[in-house]
Amino acid sequence: MESVKFDNSYSRLSDCFFVRQSPVAVTAPQLIRLNNELAESLGFNPDSRTSAEWAEVFAGNVLLDGSDPLAMAYAGHQFGSFVPQLGDGRALLLAEVVDRDGIRRDIQLKGSGRTAFSRSGDGRAAIGPVLREYVVSEAMHVLGIPTTRALAAVTTGEPVYRGTKLPGAILTRVARSHVRVGTFQFFAARQNWQAVRELADYVIWRNYPELQNRPARYVELLQAVGERQARLVSSWLGVGFIHGVMNTDNMSIAGETIDYGPCAFMDEYDPATVFSSIDHIGRYRYENQLGIVQWNLARLAEAILPLLDEDYEKAVNQATEIVEAFYPQAEECWLDVMRGKLGFKESRPDDRELVESLLTLMHEAQADFTLTFRCLWKGILSAEIPTELTNLVGASAKVDKWFLSWRQRLLAEGVSPQEASERLRTTNPALIPRNHNVERVLSAAVKDSDFAPIHRLVEQLAKPYEASADSMPEAEPPRPGQRVTQTFCGT
Ligand code: AMP
Ligand code: MG
Repeated sequence: MESVKFDNSYSRLSDCFFVRQSPVAVTAPQLIRLNNELAESLGFNPDSRTSAEWAEVFAGNVLLDGSDPLAMAYAGHQFGSFVPQLGDGRALLLAEVVDRDGIRRDIQLKGSGRTAFSRSGDGRAAIGPVLREYVVSEAMHVLGIPTTRALAAVTTGEPVYRGTKLPGAILTRVARSHVRVGTFQFFAARQNWQAVRELADYVIWRNYPELQNRPARYVELLQAVGERQARLVSSWLGVGFIHGVMNTDNMSIAGETIDYGPCAFMDEYDPATVFSSIDHIGRYRYENQLGIVQWNLARLAEAILPLLDEDYEKAVNQATEIVEAFYPQAEECWLDVMRGKLGFKESRPDDRELVESLLTLMHEAQADFTLTFRCLWKGILSAEIPTELTNLVGASAKVDKWFLSWRQRLLAEGVSPQEASERLRTTNPALIPRNHNVERVLSAAVKDSDFAPIHRLVEQLAKPYEASADSMPEAEPPRPGQRVTQTFCGT
């Protein structure tokens, strides 16, 4: 039975928010992958159509009854410079559905052809970036990190040109909202304060309903967006994720990871890690990500300033207070994540030092980030320092001291080593989408149209915490010849 509840609330907003546009049909779509579990949660029955029929749907050749496709308007600061008009240049919001849990979700096609916002672009996407987003967003989801999700990927049968000729593809993604900081900026830049208010009310209704009818709801919205972002980005830091392009147009108001471009997970720990080929100054490096959220939050504050208070000075003061308080609060979020990674449930004064001293040891030894935290689940079981740990961070008096203090601190919570071990196993993944594995499966898809490796990788990454994951080849860091040090947008 198919029972999809369509309800397109964004298309009911004022006309200035979007431009209606149908997907541009493609010649020979083929389904690469349909996310059955996600499709079902949205009310689709994956068996109700053949693979060829789904390909027509997710290529935009056939519109589902109930869709009302449109390109959203937005602006944004890209690498610090304001661009007053960006918008969906190669994406279309097809429809919103209320899923089985009662949550409203956008269904968006990415790569569906030119729109009013395409500027000089072709409105299309190449297969590599489409599959990268598929693999990485689904991996983020299984790691428990808020994210847009991948519902389907299709090839279009048409080439795209990105310096070289590549197969074209379309990703269908699902999000709690596609409103970005840059959506507010679009209207603020035009001094259309009525639209800014309409958008803020929409966001509150849809993503922050607890703020409806609150007298200071816009101030509280700014605060709440900051809180969600602090939690989100702290969870990225906990798995070594680097988004790569945290422009204000790539920061979701709903607090999900969005717009996977040259993103990557780091192998060996180095807080200054940057993968993106276009991030020359390391603006979006690993350790700068919370700072960038604060910068983006300040841009959101500016965009909604007149809503905060009628009195300009009071509005500025409120905004400043929230933006300044963000960083210390975000660091607390980060510390909570890191405490969890060390197995702690309680908060104690020396925790930060324990976290930081381990990170320093890892940095000095160029230890693999994922494996170091992962080895603690077995490591806690013995009073002796485990060789898995010394193999990664080296054998030294400093390492011994760290291990003993950490073990004592964790067991001081009154847990047995077995219980502590379970906490550690279920918090620290063995499997992340390591760059060399991602590149390998993308290369098979791009060069040989071989999709078996990507299917296998998505399925393997689905259980990152299982004890059996430790011995999988995909859990291993790259060998020297396999290392990937740079990633590309490819858009
Ligand atoms: P991104 O870097 O993917 O976040 O995109 C930044 C802006 O460029 C957005 O407005 C996109 O819609 C637009 N854009 C990216 N690629 C294309 C393309 N191939 N055709 C048209 N617009 C694009
Ligand atoms: Mg973007």
